[in-house]
Amino acid sequence: MTKGRVVVVKEYGKPFEIEEYEVPDPEPGGMILKITQAGICGSDLHTWRGEAYAPIPPGGRVMGHEGTGVVAKLGAGVSTDSLGRPIKEGDRLMYAAIAPCNRCYQCINGNENWCSGAQAPRQANTFPHFTGTYADYYYIPAGRPVFAVPRELPDEVLGFINCATGTVTEGLLRAGCKEGDYVVIQGAGGLGLNATAMAKDMGAHKVIVLDRLANRLQLAREFGADHTIDITEYSTQDARRERIWDLTEGRGANIVLELVGRAELLVEGIEYLANGGTFVEIGNIVRGMTVEFDPSTLMMGAKRVMGSRMYRPALLPEMMERMVKNLETVPYHKIVSNRYPLADVNDAFRDAEWNERQTAVSRGMLVP
Ligand SMILES: [Zn+2]
Ligand SMILES: [Zn+2]
Repeated sequence: MTKGRVVVVKEYGKPFEIEEYEVPDPEPGGMILKITQAGICGSDLHTWRGEAYAPIPPGGRVMGHEGTGVVAKLGAGVSTDSLGRPIKEGDRLMYAAIAPCNRCYQCINGNENWCSGAQAPRQANTFPHFTGTYADYYYIPAGRPVFAVPRELPDEVLGFINCATGTVTEGLLRAGCKEGDYVVIQGAGGLGLNATAMAKDMGAHKVIVLDRLANRLQLAREFGADHTIDITEYSTQDARRERIWDLTEGRGANIVLELVGRAELLVEGIEYLANGGTFVEIGNIVRGMTVEFDPSTLMMGAKRVMGSRMYRPALLPEMMERMVKNLETVPYHKIVSNRYPLADVNDAFRDAEWNERQTAVSRGMLVP
């Protein structure tokens, strides 16, 4: 019987424990992946700090949602991915990092990322054990969409696709990003860099990225940003608004994406919008952060505010095709800055905490 490690949080903010379990056989229609990469996403940091909504279940909570792996074992009746392409042991697979119920009103309307049904528990010490990506293996139940990875994509660009890339792509699509748009992106971390490349691929004529770190802004330009704004140089909201108005010839942005997670950026971002433009809230996932807001600013030019979270699984193969198309020009390999073996997960989180505040490092990746 094969055993595998699983990273578990037993108490918020405290070091993780690594537990070992027997790897179960996959159910009919399901499969077991051998995890090859697992990203440290901002929401994992929130979970670890205890800023997530759920109390820790008895026995702890497994960690990690972003990642990728290769097929370790296929369940009975599975021989293809969700698009009917043959898969076998050892093949690289991208899976949907959401666990929709597939039967609620939202799911049956194709909005699996808005699922209002029961979500799979992520309780440690409970079958099938391997429900987080900070682990050697990952249990894919029957019905979970999986997609073969195009051979053109190197391993080093796969680890963040099913959270960071998916989340910003969903946000841009739901906001109606199209040829000719002007898009403003607040924050040049892993989300912002992915959003920059995707907005350009969707035909945005101008992508303007704001951040406070010069080396992140340099990366944003490498990912296709037409303009960057260093918020330490444009240090007031008025100065930034004026700069964006200059760069958009007095029109404003069709879409603003908030990817930082600061409540006040909602109010600021709406100020950047063209009439009819859409502000997309993605970064503010921690509850309880509030901001004062004058609703009449939406009436002046019929502006929209929307939230967006995760993505519809059908976007995964589409996004990978977009990445293949742009692999020559977009340096996706630069998104992951630090790699750690699974046993060093506590170091990885300590560095990620530090990096989030201080440096240009955009994303850590666990490589079991
Ligand atoms: Zn994530
Ligand atoms: Zn559902």
